[in-house]
Amino acid sequence: MADERTTGVASNAPEGATVYDVVIIGSGPAGYTAAIYAARANLRTLVLQGEQLGGQLMITSEVENYPGFEDGVLGPELMDKFEKQARRFGAEMVPQDVTKVDFSAQPFTLWTYNKQYQGHSVIIATGASAKWLGLPNEQRLQGRGVSGCATCDGFFFREKAIAVVGGGDTAMEEALFLTRYASQVHLLHRRDSFRASKIMQQRVQSNPKITIHYNSEVMDVLGENAVEGLTLRDTQTGATSTLPVQGFFVAIGHQPNTELFKGILEMDAVGYLKPATHTMTSIPGVFLAGDVADARYRQAVTAAGEGCRAAIDAERWLESRGEVNEQTAEDAAAWGALNETHDAASDAERDATSAAR
Ligand code: NDP
Repeated sequence: MADERTTGVASNAPEGATVYDVVIIGSGPAGYTAAIYAARANLRTLVLQGEQLGGQLMITSEVENYPGFEDGVLGPELMDKFEKQARRFGAEMVPQDVTKVDFSAQPFTLWTYNKQYQGHSVIIATGASAKWLGLPNEQRLQGRGVSGCATCDGFFFREKAIAVVGGGDTAMEEALFLTRYASQVHLLHRRDSFRASKIMQQRVQSNPKITIHYNSEVMDVLGENAVEGLTLRDTQTGATSTLPVQGFFVAIGHQPNTELFKGILEMDAVGYLKPATHTMTSIPGVFLAGDVADARYRQAVTAAGEGCRAAIDAERWLESRGEVNEQTAEDAAAWGALNETHDAASDAERDATSAAR
């Protein structure tokens, strides 16, 4: 049981209720890596995976830059491996969305639509979701030609003309992927240069099936029951035009999934959560991992690294709580002291290594 495994962690949970040492929210690279580390550290670990398992990699095609896979790996396959690895060490999985949290008292409480869970610590790894443009007919035509996922829907556009909007790596990747199916891919970008990596830009520029439209703003999607075209505006001249396409893929970046934590945890203007000390938030025992707190790198490998950091921080924090019954300021102080001890030990080890060299 949780309280037996985590030495000295006292609980004020209802008698008989399962209290996990670590509850992880989210099942992307960050969540699963946190689960691997926490479960392997013999902490009773629960992953509230969400209804859409596996995070953003489930809607990605080939992942070419995850270390250890020299020939690339499919996103869903990679996440399946992560999940199996976490299960191997005993992490429990529940494929439900968290609908509410209470971080005001120990143990923390989390609700799904039909159940309540408790944990001494929580790692938030809810990631980010694809953004939409907010055009008048964008939502209405979703599933009828408007899509946010080339891997999921590209197949339906064989020999059709389609458009992709965006200038980052996602847009490049989607446009390239869609050339497998489409007769022609129009890549629409609001500025005169892409922000995507050079290698992806080069691949797009040298693909004969892709036509690039710089300085093009999408004003609306046309069509009654299916996409028939787009209204475009030239951002330099202001001139509008119609581009006939049967598919429209939106690839303009992501929004962190943090609605649940509004008013509870500190976040920036966009909604990314902010850590207070290392991966811990201003609420002792609540940790962050992955894209939910990372507007800068947002890579599968960095998210996995964050999951590892958060699990190690959670483990140290649980260890530091000792006999403390309630969540108090001492928790944070003890955790800080423990970190200092670990940091001092690492410094001493590093000094000894350099002296030996
Ligand atoms: P980015 O934030 O990098 O790019 C978003 C793009 O969408 C920008 O070009 C932006 O334009 C445009 N955009 C944003 N809002 C609007 C709007 N309202 N109307 C029109 N255009 C808009 O997001 P990505 O999802 O592309 O990439 C995120 C991160 O993931 C990056 O770090 C990227 O490198 C990484 N990634 C890596 C991949 C790989 O290596 N295989 C694959 C996919 C992503 P503007 O440039 O004008 O701001």
